[in-house]
Amino acid sequence: MARSILEALDIIATHITPLDKEILPIEMSLGRVVTENIIATFNLPRFDNSAMDGYAVKIADALQKVTCNEVIYAGDNPSMTLQEGTAIKIMTGAPIPQGCEAIVPIENVQVEKDGITLPQEIQDKHFIRMAGEDIKKGTRFLNAGETINAYTIASLASQGISHISVHREIKVAVFGTGDELRPHYEKIEDYQLYNSNSPMFLTRSKQLGCSVRFISTSADTIEALETSIKSSLDADIIITSGGVSVGDKDFTKEAFTNLGMQTLIDCIDIKPGRPTIIGKIDQTIIVNLPGNPLASMVNYELFVRAIIRKLSGSSTYYHNTISTTIQSDFSVRGGKYAVVLGSFDGQTFTPLQAQMPGMVSPMQKADGMLLITPDIKTLSKGSKVNMIPIKWECTSDTQATLFSVSSD
Ligand code: AMP
Ligand code: MG
Repeated sequence: MARSILEALDIIATHITPLDKEILPIEMSLGRVVTENIIATFNLPRFDNSAMDGYAVKIADALQKVTCNEVIYAGDNPSMTLQEGTAIKIMTGAPIPQGCEAIVPIENVQVEKDGITLPQEIQDKHFIRMAGEDIKKGTRFLNAGETINAYTIASLASQGISHISVHREIKVAVFGTGDELRPHYEKIEDYQLYNSNSPMFLTRSKQLGCSVRFISTSADTIEALETSIKSSLDADIIITSGGVSVGDKDFTKEAFTNLGMQTLIDCIDIKPGRPTIIGKIDQTIIVNLPGNPLASMVNYELFVRAIIRKLSGSSTYYHNTISTTIQSDFSVRGGKYAVVLGSFDGQTFTPLQAQMPGMVSPMQKADGMLLITPDIKTLSKGSKVNMIPIKWECTSDTQATLFSVSSD
């Protein structure tokens, strides 16, 4: 039974569970998803300190000439108390002395031989960075399900956290199917074809944070397919393409079923890419994508990306969209739940002129895709659409509205 696109995404969201966890040094955790909430064990900054190179002063001394005989540097642990009629020179990041009410930047005072003259206006606490104003002790500054980036690592380091518990890396195994396929590093005859899907699955999965392994290209026989499957079963996801349609040599599903695949999705009501199968053998997720290159790319972006996000432990595993408008009129065939690929310039969406399922090259130029319903025949210039980005991640913790509705 064909599943709708939304049903298929829903099955992925409910049947796939995050991978187990491991503990990593924070520098090794980039791109991983945190398994537990992290609570600040101390204030950041730890102490009230100066935001400027300047002078620690009393507000009552505004417009006065005050004496200044001491300096506090970053890294010092000052014990003095600031008295009225005096100022203490202080550097950025240095702890403020007892009694300090504000910092006046160096450029705002007049330096004289026997002291400094302060400006007329000095605001309470001005240029003082208060303890805990960045991260307050006891607050949660990182949530389970968040993906770690370089800035998360800065927050972790600032709390003196050296190791963190994250979901483990996803292992992806890829193999092609088809007697006609040859590897891209060999010479081929005019009637032969390079396997372009496998290198694409491998590199895209790597880009999405997985470790990847190429098994081989399997011949179109049950035995060869079973051999390839057996040698990839230690992976978390096996991605194949081809042999899933109704051709005489389309044995992919049969081979996986022989080895115990539980089918979650048999085929999807989508153009291109209807013959897409998603299943499980024990804990390994199986994704059999169509052989047609563009169909396999589109379905990778819609479904494999969703699977990777769910396995990664991310709490925002749903696709989200960017609202944009159509650049110029574009006709579609209609009659199907379909995907329209296009480029996006930050303002408008321009559908790609050529985007046939068997093509390889269009996806190079696709920044995003639209999902459209069978009733849509034209995407009119200026009409509002929801684009699912391809070249970057735009995600949500709830199912967003993915289909675009035509304005006519
Ligand atoms: P199939 O579903 O196996 O009948 O394949 C459909 C079409 O996709 C055929 O034209 C295949 O030659 C082509 N194809 C299948 N696998 C690949 C691949 N890995 N790379 C490029 N084209 C492929
Ligand atoms: Mg084939």
